[in-house]
Amino acid sequence: MGKILIAEDEQPIADLIRLSLKTAGHTCDWAPDGEAAADLLTTPAYDLVLLDVMLPRIDGFALMDYIRPLEIPVIFLTARSAVSDRVRGLRMGADDYMVKPFDVDELLARVETVLRRYHKTGETIALAGLVADPRARRVWRDGQEIALTPKEYDLLLLFLRNPNAALYRDTIYERVWGGELAYGSKTVDLHIQRLRKKVGWDGVLLAVNKVGYRLEVSP
Ligand code: CA
Repeated sequence: MGKILIAEDEQPIADLIRLSLKTAGHTCDWAPDGEAAADLLTTPAYDLVLLDVMLPRIDGFALMDYIRPLEIPVIFLTARSAVSDRVRGLRMGADDYMVKPFDVDELLARVETVLRRYHKTGETIALAGLVADPRARRVWRDGQEIALTPKEYDLLLLFLRNPNAALYRDTIYERVWGGELAYGSKTVDLHIQRLRKKVGWDGVLLAVNKVGYRLEVSP
């Protein structure tokens, strides 16, 4: 299961993809143009982007420059059968491509493959005094393993994957717990406090006034 961004301006196609992915247990966001996709990508934790090449405002190739540093895998969706487009997409770092019109089951299979490959090759993250192995869901400080609850681990990964980014409480809640944060809820703050204490992130996992939290990492 993954969190997938669908950047596709043709709504019937986007709807079809979304429905199929949801049925397969993935969660999806939809961006109808390149600008909307870029906006959504500033919020963290997409596992995969399905990227239409011909997008209004910012096209898929231009968006690729933006996505690559985020290290999110990409499957290009192209209406063109031109080999040059596919080659260009793959050269730019896309993990795969689909030529429209495509079979939804085939897309699903490729999505699974890319997600699996990505998780398999997921390396350890060494950041902010910790070493984490996302696949094994383990974390160490100075060679000493730290025991975390599943939610605390999700929270940890969210920050490790988004160093120096101020993350909104709502976003944190949505990514870790799913759904909307109830007004006045202290869930996020309580878990942050616990996590900070357990992994020794005092003065590192910082509160950002009126926003949420930020993991401060020196360059
Ligand atoms: Ca298009």
